[in-house]
Amino acid sequence: MTFERRDLDGFFIDGALRPPTSTDRVEVVHPANEEIVGSVPRSTPEDMTAAATAARRAFDEGPWPRTSPAERAEMLTAIADGLEKRLDELAYLSTAQNGMPIMLSRQSQGIELLRFYADVANDFPWEERRQGLSGAGLVRRTPVGVAGLIVPWNAPSLLMNKLPAALVAGCTTVVKPSPETPLDTYLLAEVLQEVGLPPGVVNIVAGDAVVGQHLVDDPRVDKISFTGSTAAGQKIMASLAGRIGRVSLELGGKSASILLDDAPLEAALPATMAGSCLNNGQACIALSRVLAPRSRYDEVVATLAAMVGSLPVGDPFDETTFVGPVLNARQRDRALSYIEIGKSEGARVVAGGGAVPDRDKGFWVQPTVLADVSNDMRVAQEEIFAAVISVIPYDDGDDAAVAMANDSRYGLSGAVWSADPQRALDVARKIRTGTITVNGFTYDIGLPFGGFKQSGIGREWGLEGLEAYLEYQTINLPQGL
Ligand code: NAD
Repeated sequence: MTFERRDLDGFFIDGALRPPTSTDRVEVVHPANEEIVGSVPRSTPEDMTAAATAARRAFDEGPWPRTSPAERAEMLTAIADGLEKRLDELAYLSTAQNGMPIMLSRQSQGIELLRFYADVANDFPWEERRQGLSGAGLVRRTPVGVAGLIVPWNAPSLLMNKLPAALVAGCTTVVKPSPETPLDTYLLAEVLQEVGLPPGVVNIVAGDAVVGQHLVDDPRVDKISFTGSTAAGQKIMASLAGRIGRVSLELGGKSASILLDDAPLEAALPATMAGSCLNNGQACIALSRVLAPRSRYDEVVATLAAMVGSLPVGDPFDETTFVGPVLNARQRDRALSYIEIGKSEGARVVAGGGAVPDRDKGFWVQPTVLADVSNDMRVAQEEIFAAVISVIPYDDGDDAAVAMANDSRYGLSGAVWSADPQRALDVARKIRTGTITVNGFTYDIGLPFGGFKQSGIGREWGLEGLEAYLEYQTINLPQGL
C-alpha cells in the first residue's frame, strides 16, 4: 500500500464531521523519518464541549441506551466487519503515526474485542429477578451514562479495550485520542457512519491534556476510562472526586519476568525479550525487569545481551522488523536519560545503551540490557517506556524473588518461569499484579486485565470489562409482580 499524506478536517461529533473552532492544525510525524504523514485541526475545549453535549443528548434522548442488547451486538458486529475490510489501511496508519512494527499493527486494531462483546451481549444477565431477604427484586445492569474514553498514543487497541464494552452496555461516548495519533480514528468515524450508528453515540475529538482535562471536568460526563501515565491518572482521579465521577484507570507498569532457579531459559529468555521489546518497549505490560537467581545470573545476562544486541532495529514498515523507532524526541530523550541514570547508579550496559547510530532522522533508541541493577535503582522502579531491560539478581530462593517482584509501586503484568509449573504457579499466586503468566507471556481478551496498586483501578476485557460501564439498579417488587 502506498501512503498518501492525510490532511483531515473537523471532529466527529453527533454523527458527522463538524468544523473545528480553531484554525490551528497539528501535524502528525512519522517517527522513523520525521516526515509529515498528515494533519488534523487542533482541538479546543469548545470542541470538547460540543462532543460532550452530543453524547449527553444521545444518552438522554437518543435511541442507543434503549435498544436491545441484541441490536447493540449486531451493530458491534457491523463495526467489526467494517474495520476488518480496512485492516490494511488501519495498520498502515497506526505504523505511520507511532512507529509500531507493521506486523504488530495488523494484530493490534482490537477488532476481536468488538466481536467478543457482541457475543457477551447476547448471553449477559442484563436483568435478573432475585429473591432478597424480604421479597423479590429486579436487579438491572444499566449503562453508566456518558463515558469519556481517554487513550494514549502507543496502541490503537487501547481504545478498543474500552469502546466495545461501553457501547454494548448502552453508554454513549466521547473518545479523546492523543494528538500524536489521531488519523486512524477518522477511519473509525467513517465506519461508524457507514454502519449507521445513531448520532452522538460515539464522538471523537483528538486533543492534548488541556482538552482531555476539559472532558474530565464536564459534569455531564458520568464516567472516565483512562489509559496512560500514572501521573495523569492521579490528576484525573482527583478531578473526579468532587462529583463522585466513575473512573477506570489503566496506568503504567514495571513488570517482572521471574526466573526461578530451574527456569527453562531457552523458552524464558526469548519470551522475556519479546515481552520487553514489544511495540519498541512502549507497552504498559512490558517485562522491563528480569529477576534472575544469582546462581544463573551470568548466564542470563550473557544470553539476553546476545539476543537483544542482535535484534533487528529498523523501518517499522518492514515486515521483519521487531523493533522500530520510539514515538518522538521526548520519548527518545527520556529513554536515553534513563540509561544514563542507570549507569550513574552503577548499572552495566551489556547491550545497546544509546541512540541507534547512523540515523540522522527519526527517533531511535537501541534495545538495551542493563546488568548489575538492584531493585531500588530508579531504572528498576520507574517506567522507561522504551526497550530498556533491567536484569536484577536475587539470592535466597523463591520468596526473595517474590518480595523483589512485589517491591514496586506498580502491579500490572508479569511472568514466572520454572521447570515445575506447579512451583511457578505457587509463586504466581503471591505476586501482586493484575495479570501474570506461568511459563509464558500471554494476554487473553476473554479474561480480565488491569492493575494492582498504582497500575490502575478496574478491569478491561472479559465480563469484568463490561461491568466497568454498568450501574446496578435494584427495583423492589411488590407481591404478585
Ligand atoms: P499521558 O498519560 O500524559 O497521556 C495519555 C493520554 O491522556 C493522552 O491522550 C493525553 O492527552 C491525555 N491526558 C494527559 N493528561 C490528562 C488530563 N489531566 N486529563 C485528561 N486527559 C489527559 O501519557 P503521555 O504523555 O502520552 O506519555 C508519558 C508517559 O506515560 C510515557 O512515557 C509512559 O511512561 C506513560 N504511558 C503509559 C501508557 C500505558 O499504556 N500505561 C501509555 C502511554 C504513556
